[in-house]
Amino acid sequence: MVGARQGAAKPLTGRDNPVAKAFRPIRSAFWGVAVVSFVINILMLTGPVFMLQVYDRVLASGSVPTLVVIGILAMVLYVFYGILEGIRGRILSRLGQRVDARLSGIVYKVSNSLPVRLGRRAAKLRPVQDLDTIRQFLSGPGPAAIFDIPWLPLYLGIVFLFHPLLGFVGLAGAIIITILIGVNEAMSRSPSEEAAGQAGRRAAVVESGQRNSEVVTAMGMQGALTSRWDAQNGEYLATQRRASDRTGVFGTAIKTIRFVLQSAILGVGAWLAIKQEITPGVMIAASIMTSRALAPIEQAVAQWRGFVASRQALKRLREVLQVADSEPEKMDLPLPTQKVNVEQVFCGPFGEAMPYVQNVTLELQSGDGLGVIGPSGSGKSTFARALVGATPALKGVIRYDGAELGQWPTTKRGEFIGYLPQDLQLFDGTIAENIARFNEEASPDKVIEAAKLADVHDMIVALPEGYNTVIGRTGRSLSAGQRQRVALARALYGNPFLVVLDEPNSNLDAEGESALTGAIKAMREKGSIVVVIAHRPSAIATVDKILCLKEGKMAGFGPKEEVLKQVVQPVQRVRAGMGPGR
Ligand code: ADP
Ligand code: MG
Repeated sequence: MVGARQGAAKPLTGRDNPVAKAFRPIRSAFWGVAVVSFVINILMLTGPVFMLQVYDRVLASGSVPTLVVIGILAMVLYVFYGILEGIRGRILSRLGQRVDARLSGIVYKVSNSLPVRLGRRAAKLRPVQDLDTIRQFLSGPGPAAIFDIPWLPLYLGIVFLFHPLLGFVGLAGAIIITILIGVNEAMSRSPSEEAAGQAGRRAAVVESGQRNSEVVTAMGMQGALTSRWDAQNGEYLATQRRASDRTGVFGTAIKTIRFVLQSAILGVGAWLAIKQEITPGVMIAASIMTSRALAPIEQAVAQWRGFVASRQALKRLREVLQVADSEPEKMDLPLPTQKVNVEQVFCGPFGEAMPYVQNVTLELQSGDGLGVIGPSGSGKSTFARALVGATPALKGVIRYDGAELGQWPTTKRGEFIGYLPQDLQLFDGTIAENIARFNEEASPDKVIEAAKLADVHDMIVALPEGYNTVIGRTGRSLSAGQRQRVALARALYGNPFLVVLDEPNSNLDAEGESALTGAIKAMREKGSIVVVIAHRPSAIATVDKILCLKEGKMAGFGPKEEVLKQVVQPVQRVRAGMGPGR
């Protein structure tokens, strides 16, 4: 696949999966927890054994010194137990943190690339939240309960040693509870999965409402949107309710069975004691032991939902990280300085059946200015995305001085590519950080040079905080035209060899347009290739070549005058007549 060549994404399987890698070093820690759990469970015998001694030795002999001695002994063991339980809790919570620390960087990186890689499928995936779910489960009481379950046979075995009949009663209880857990697991899986999907859709409704807050307010859409929200939330709650009803029923059933079991053991024990087959101490100890044995099961049932959710999160995370950008070390190629070749390129958003832009071939030389024209929806933005490598070409190749983009380390791309997207967004951060693309080693000189080139320097320094003004959702908002010029400066930062500007003048006034024209000219004089996508003729005043797209196909390419003569009349007629306005 061409995508693999361009995107530098390599499928990872099994042992190479970052999830497997993150868990591998902590496996030994899990062994440590298992050992601690072993000691904890042995120490948990303190209660029953103490009871046994009190009944059968102290009460029988009436010896107070004996009571004091075993009392102190039991106390010491309980203190040990408490300390170990604390240690186990701390280890587990740190394991959760470590898994998170190991994965969070790569998960964030992958989450940024999901929309490009998966198109609309990305909307359903929330890898960062999935990692949160896993950490929370690992740090909670769930894993401890799981580590305690294997000791159930030990306790039951001791009860068997007390008396086989008691053992059988306990075993029967354990089997019934285990079956209930199995059924519970099978029945709660699908509602839990469904609830996770609905949680995603619910979050999307919240997010789009916030994003469009002004539209909602201005046109009084609150009511309509709220009913939509209520419907979505209602579905979510219903699924949640179904999931928790089922787990609730089983949780209660299991708890009840434990009570019944405890009394049953006591009853059977009493009967055996009457027949003088066991002592009263054994009767009490067996009863305590059985309920101890089954306690972790109850704990596990309580933690079940968290366990299922984090297992599903783990599965999704493994899938998402399967194609992690685990870039192999790449040799450093020099930055391109000569030309860009587009060879029979087909491109479009991921996951769509047909590449929208088809069979584009052209060559651009250093210093060239290319204007891309065509009606709305003709594929100009789609082509621009492929040209800068934002979405890989589905077929054909784009070469920069002969080499495909995949040959450069991804971090190096920004040094020769500048891109101003059509629906631009700035990041939360200062203006300087935005222009420097959050490069930590950015020199102020380069930031100011780019800002001056985009003619936005004066506007920036007129702000009270100048270049340090925080913008974005958490900061000051700029006007659409100001944002466009800051984004232009970001595209021009570092004098990249290829600058692609998608409708850069859509929000500009006359002054802004002349700044844009100046910037394009200056960049071309420095030897850059500038590609401008434009509706209005003013922006293509400073280009020498034109590509005209119509319904995704090349309707003309060549020197400006020639192409304009050939295509602009018909294009304008189409626009005036039909006004697709997409
Ligand atoms: P232009 O920039 O020339 O106005 P675009 O390149 O944005 O046109 O869009 C070309 C076509 O591709 C349109 O029909 C548009 O609906 C479609 N398109 C653009 N982006 C997406 C997307 N993310 N998913 C599906 N179709 C898309
Ligand atoms: Mg467009």
